Amino acid sequence: MRKPFIAANWKMTKTIGETEEFINAFLPMVKHIGDVDILIAPPFTSLSTAARLLKSSNVSLGAQNVYYEEKGAYTGEISPGMLLSAGCSCVIIGHSERRQYFSETDEIVNKKIKLARKSGLDVILCIGESLEQRESNRTFEVLENQLGGSLRDLSLDGITIAYEPIWAIGTGKTATKEQANEAHAHIRGWLRKNRDSADTVRIQYGGSVKPENIEELMSQPDVDGALVGGASLKPDSFAGIVTGAAKE
Ligand code: PEP
Repeated sequence: MRKPFIAANWKMTKTIGETEEFINAFLPMVKHIGDVDILIAPPFTSLSTAARLLKSSNVSLGAQNVYYEEKGAYTGEISPGMLLSAGCSCVIIGHSERRQYFSETDEIVNKKIKLARKSGLDVILCIGESLEQRESNRTFEVLENQLGGSLRDLSLDGITIAYEPIWAIGTGKTATKEQANEAHAHIRGWLRKNRDSADTVRIQYGGSVKPENIEELMSQPDVDGALVGGASLKPDSFAGIVTGAAKE
């Protein structure tokens, strides 16, 4: 019922030339795959090049961040309209690195999602607990607070949730399939209680996903895809994840 959705978050890696090289190698590897939604989110500087290369392919283009104003004196920021004009259909909002290094709060995340959705961009909303929060049994409370704050006055239309336990991001430590599904089921339970269409919203897992673990993660009933950092940087590795997700 929910189509698998695999997204690449390249973070601050890849020049324009490296983007071109990746996409030229990657597209032939996944062109036969129709039953998985595939998205690449390169840095802003690579968006136009990526948009040109991905045109008419089965891979869509996303951005890693957006601002909550349409235009004005906000040096260094990028608006939803700019992302749309560069060819993006989606934007990642609230990644833990943005929360940690750039002080993004749930309130800011909420404002960003509101303008992105109003402008016609789909959104991947990232939430997840730190190791300390998990170890003090506060995971569910943290997730509920993030959902409540980030989704305030919003429907789930056009929104994918990415559950990314911070302790699993870029560490090589993946949540077990049981830990991932438990968190996803809790998120879906909260959405069911508080929003319509909780059964159709897709919940991606993020945190050291690789070709070797995608199939077991995707075997879980509430895991609908993945948001992938490190393992999305090499065409064969990201293609292996997409192919693994297609098997279920
Ligand atoms: C991420 O940053 O969203 C992520 C999941 O990274 P990694 O796959 O490298 O853990």
